[in-house]
Amino acid sequence: MIPLRDNIRNMAGYVPGFQPDDGQDWIKLNTNENPYPPSPAVREAILRELGEDGARLRQYPDAASRAGRQEAARLYGVDPAWVIMANGSDEVLNNLIRAFAGEGEEIAYVHPSYSYYATLAEIQGARVCTFGLTDKWELDGFPERYEGKLFFLTNPNAPLGFAYPREFIEELAGRVAGMLVVDEAYADFADDNALDLVHKYENLVVTRTLSKSYSLAGMRLGLAVARPEVIAALDKIRDHYNLDRLAQAAVTAALRDQEYFSRCVQRIRETRDWFSVELQVLDYSVIPSQGNYLFASPPDRDGKRVYDALYQRRILVRYFSDPALAHGLRISIGTREEMMATLDALREIG
Ligand SMILES: *Cc1c(COP(=O)(O)O)cnc(C)c1O
Repeated sequence: MIPLRDNIRNMAGYVPGFQPDDGQDWIKLNTNENPYPPSPAVREAILRELGEDGARLRQYPDAASRAGRQEAARLYGVDPAWVIMANGSDEVLNNLIRAFAGEGEEIAYVHPSYSYYATLAEIQGARVCTFGLTDKWELDGFPERYEGKLFFLTNPNAPLGFAYPREFIEELAGRVAGMLVVDEAYADFADDNALDLVHKYENLVVTRTLSKSYSLAGMRLGLAVARPEVIAALDKIRDHYNLDRLAQAAVTAALRDQEYFSRCVQRIRETRDWFSVELQVLDYSVIPSQGNYLFASPPDRDGKRVYDALYQRRILVRYFSDPALAHGLRISIGTREEMMATLDALREIG
């Protein structure tokens, strides 16, 4: 037997959503990807970085991703010292655990939300605690003061799609003794966000990703906004060349083209709200969503049955066997045409 650490031997490992090889013939609504291409400025910036012969790739990228930080800082109205760029927001979630939770120390998150926090904590050897949800989407049994090292709040919630009000984030920041990480992977699709609260609460970190709202899941780009002391600690931990040259070119161009970004986000929000109504016409119960996905349950509350029937029609959605989620499906919002085809299939499936 190889001499692995016990926690690595015993952990299951995270299982991401299925990526079919022949992506073309599927309607792919299972990983919350954006149905629209990224801004044309992204392609141009990558080609410019690549040049005629790719010679620039001989040299390491800017270790600090300064151009990206500056662009993000300008967009979010903070000083660049308050921003760190990441190779996907998953990287910065990982480094937050490494920075704040030692072996045997506790982190917590909401169940159901993004279970990757647990995987990252297991690798670190930290303990994991979860808090469930009441039927009003309040945290069940959350203590007056939570003494763990980190609390991750996915807002809007994934996979359910509802969002906690800003007053609740403020209240939580006061009740969490350690760091409160608000994972805003879907905040660009929401009515509100907590970004400016980093100025008010020392223990608040907000993470974002370009995977969903900027159509760049394939480039692996994320970021975090927090006080400079937190950013400086995360800078010590990350791979020193965590963003490659093409990713750095892409992130600056993507953040700069806010007009294109807003149009795509608006279109997805409109499709989401229309699709939600159409699902309810089919007697599905649908949780009002602030993300680019809907969590919806068929009348017989058998998510697996509908998942399988959609799969046979080459429509991929996300089914979770977790008992808290097995009654429904998470359906990413694609183009209007993709959602019409999905509705046709659901009508046929019954
Ligand atoms: C997609 C997602 C992430 C990961 O984003 P990447 O930038 O692609 O690593 C993090 N948190 C939540 C809740 C997500 O849905």
